[in-house]
Amino acid sequence: MVTFQFLQMLLELIMGKPLNNLEGNVFGSLKVLMIGRSKGNGAWWICQCKCGKQKELRGSDLVQGKINSCGCEHKERIARASTTHGMKYNRTYRLWGAMKNRCNRLNQDYSARGITYEKRWDFFENFLADMGEVPDEMSLDRINVDGNYEKSNCQWATREQQANNTRANVFVEWNGKRQTLAQWAKELNMNYDKLRSRIVRYKWSLDRALSEGNQPEPADVPV
Ligand SMILES: [Zn+2]
Repeated sequence: MVTFQFLQMLLELIMGKPLNNLEGNVFGSLKVLMIGRSKGNGAWWICQCKCGKQKELRGSDLVQGKINSCGCEHKERIARASTTHGMKYNRTYRLWGAMKNRCNRLNQDYSARGITYEKRWDFFENFLADMGEVPDEMSLDRINVDGNYEKSNCQWATREQQANNTRANVFVEWNGKRQTLAQWAKELNMNYDKLRSRIVRYKWSLDRALSEGNQPEPADVPV
């Protein structure tokens, strides 16, 4: 197939000079300084990039918008992407550390219930290999709330998914109505974790925990 580009190249060869004089034109970060040495495939131009670098580029690539910089913008994009990657990696590492802490610390919610993590997850590399990096807006969730942190019982989940999963089985009957604690929290416009700790940690009566609403501190001190 004979392309326009090919015809242009042929004409430029015959005429011995470029059809389009690109001198002075700006393409993205590039400013065309002068005609370059021909390297075949049409005219080449010496361009000045905003980053300070000069590079000889093919005119048709400039005109068609295939090239917008000396290559520095491409490198920048890669650098940005790897930074995003680094953040995901770091967040995964923090979540792994927090998981270990929850199990190791004397924590009523975990240690006392005998919840632990599988031995090979002592090493972050193994955890990462099993779980992969944490997706945005997600955190570590156990499928069975009373089960351990292990590959078969863990998943990355959004906060909402976690609420629906781990809290679904905590049914509470109050004022003749039976629903999950998460649903109660929503209905009473309360923070779920606050409501839960009133009942589980501070041993408030159901009536008090549900009826006092979002009292400011020190309503949450143990009684
Ligand atoms: Zn550049």
